Amino acid sequence: MARYTGPACRLCRVEQKKLMLKGDRCKSDKCPINKKRPAPGKDPKGRAGKRSDYGLQLREKQRLKRIYGMQERQFHIFFDRALRAPGITGENLFNLLERRLDNVVYRLRFAVSRAQARQIVLHGHIKVNGKRVNVPSYLVKAEDTIEVEETSKNLVIFKDALKEYGKSGVMPWLQLDPDAMKGKFLAVPRRTDVTDLGDIKEQMIVEYYSK
Ligand code: SF4
Repeated sequence: MARYTGPACRLCRVEQKKLMLKGDRCKSDKCPINKKRPAPGKDPKGRAGKRSDYGLQLREKQRLKRIYGMQERQFHIFFDRALRAPGITGENLFNLLERRLDNVVYRLRFAVSRAQARQIVLHGHIKVNGKRVNVPSYLVKAEDTIEVEETSKNLVIFKDALKEYGKSGVMPWLQLDPDAMKGKFLAVPRRTDVTDLGDIKEQMIVEYYSK
C-alpha cells in the first residue's frame, strides 16, 4: 500500500495541531503551526461551517493515525484487534500503538521522529531480545530489551538522536542505557501514562469505526 510521501507539516496544518512528525524542527520557531497559517483548503478568514459529529470523529482518527505514521488499513487492523481484546477498546488501542517497535525505538531516543524510527527498523539496525527485527509494526512485550545493532552503534544518526536523551529523558514505562544504546520496555503503559499526544479523544475514534 502506498505511503503518504508529501510534506509532513501539511498533515499538521490539516489537523491544525502539532503532530510532532519532524523531530527538532517541531520544537523550533520554524514549525508552521506556530505561525497560525490556515489549514490547507480552509477559508483564510475562518468562515468554514461547523463540523458534523462524523467530521470531528474522522479528524480525531486521522490525527492519531498520523501521529503513529500508519496507513488506514493497518490502523484499522489495530483497531479491530483492540475491539476484540478484553477491556476498554480505546485503552487497548493505545496499548497496541505504544507497543509498536518503531514507536518504542522513537521513544527510546534512538530516532528523532517515528518516521525516522521506522526507517531505522526497516534497515535492520535494531535488535529485540538479542535478535534482529526489521518489522516496524512488531509488538514489543513487557520486559523486552531493545538495542541498536552492534555494527550500527557508530552511526551519527544514533549519536545525534540520543543527545536528546540528556534534555528530556524517556517515558516512565521505559528504561534506557544511552551509552550501551540499549533500552527496556518495562510495562505496557496505560492510556493515562501517554501524556504527550495532546487531547486525543479515543472514544471518538471508537465511535467513528462503530458506524
Ligand atoms: Fe511540521 Fe513538526 Fe510543526 Fe508538524 S509539529 S507542522 S511536523 S514542524
